[in-house]
Amino acid sequence: MKRIKLPKLHHQILAALILGAIFGSIFNVNKDKLVISFLSGNSIKTATVKGWEQFSFIIPGQADTVKFGKTQQQEIISYHSKLKKESKSFKILISGIPLPEDKAVNRIQTFSNVVSISKEGAISTDIKWIGDIFIRLLSMIAIPLVFASLTVGAASLGDIRKFARIGGKTISYYLITTVIAITIGLVLANLVKPGERMSVDTKKRMLSTYTEDASSKIENLGSYDIKQQIVNIIPRNPIKAFTDGDMLQIIFFSVFLGLILSLISKEKASPLIKFFDGLSDSMIKMVDVIMLMAPIGVFALISATVGEFGFDILQTLIWYAAVVIVGLMIHTFGVYPILLRIFSKIKTITFFKGIRRVQTIAFSTSSSAATLPVNMECCQENLGVSKSITSFVLPLGATINMDGTALYQGVAAVFIAQVFGIDLNFTQQITIIITATLASIGTAPVPGVGIIMLIIILKSVGIPEEGIALIMGVDRILDMCRTITNVTGDAAGAVIIASSEKEILHPDLSNA
Ligand code: ASP
Repeated sequence: MKRIKLPKLHHQILAALILGAIFGSIFNVNKDKLVISFLSGNSIKTATVKGWEQFSFIIPGQADTVKFGKTQQQEIISYHSKLKKESKSFKILISGIPLPEDKAVNRIQTFSNVVSISKEGAISTDIKWIGDIFIRLLSMIAIPLVFASLTVGAASLGDIRKFARIGGKTISYYLITTVIAITIGLVLANLVKPGERMSVDTKKRMLSTYTEDASSKIENLGSYDIKQQIVNIIPRNPIKAFTDGDMLQIIFFSVFLGLILSLISKEKASPLIKFFDGLSDSMIKMVDVIMLMAPIGVFALISATVGEFGFDILQTLIWYAAVVIVGLMIHTFGVYPILLRIFSKIKTITFFKGIRRVQTIAFSTSSSAATLPVNMECCQENLGVSKSITSFVLPLGATINMDGTALYQGVAAVFIAQVFGIDLNFTQQITIIITATLASIGTAPVPGVGIIMLIIILKSVGIPEEGIALIMGVDRILDMCRTITNVTGDAAGAVIIASSEKEILHPDLSNA
């Protein structure tokens, strides 16, 4: 099959990103509308309420009614799900709803037997399914690609010594850059002190809105035992690891299999290696085809995210968000170029040009796993990294190397401690560096996992875990940003390791 050439795909994707953000902010989810569905007789009815002055929950046996004001749409939804979880019965009384024909007259509405309260969809969020198709197509490739390419990658390293050398370099690069990233996060958070700049009002608002979500995340995580996590890297059943999408287990099995293939007779190993090689190539070719829908997919994803969450939430937590974003920028555009300069001959501009598609996909999907196929393709084709290095370094990096996530976790931990008035001493900050490095290895390369692993870090230094409620509102947007850093770190790693092994194949990019 001839390679499908897409004229100026980067520009199309970039335009889709900008247009998606504009579209999402114009056709955004209405902040003063709620859709209430309730049981009436035997059927469920829905009503849309718009523009209330006061939204009250009346709970039998409780003297005070719980009241919310005009701008508290998210708080109302969270409080309702809390009541539902506790199976409490309640009535809703809404006052101050303007009549459409005469805005001066205020209406009162009551609801009982309420089944759900939700935001009303908008065009920007209604098209999210198109973006979901795009993410699913990319994620569909990720697991067979990791399996096939890591197996071939490990087998093609030839002997155990070469494997140990490249493996050692890869792991060291990943660990060192992660430690640098968290340190940047900690230094910035200690200098700027974003937690001390948060108003008591915002603190109360964030806690009341997101405590419900936060406690369900804490409950789901359960207890975390590092020894058990190490044991869990070894799959009891590799097929189950594939069906569960457990990346660390898949990596373990693939690398092990690849190594063994280099130890059995050539006659038996080569058909298998050819098979995996063919599978890996087909997966990469699939990326070309899937990329045809990238502009539409990116547009839909960004418009849905901006339409639902908006950028205004960033204003509420402006100092915290700014520290995370500045930290990520320093690491992405400062640390990696320095490392590339020291350890490779590649020009910074060539590097960033080569991976701009990777960065846009990472930003719009928030998933290193979904971005992996694109990263492998760009590193091979645009940066000249050999197939055996990309096959080994990138799948490993997508799973265990998360500099952006680690940096954000460092800032978040200090921020939450500052809001709660907890002074973190030097030992505690070192503990954060160690736990965040380990946690970033265990973080699955999918959206929103960074905040769950943050719970472990908070626990390790005695910061109340419920504090994640403070930062949940902006997490989605920051997740998009930190995923850019995560995938850039993987690509920089591939270039650096390839350079050290003289495996940059492009003559003009070569280190030789
Ligand atoms: N979304 C991130 C990734 O896939 C992980 C996280 O920080 O939540 O790289």
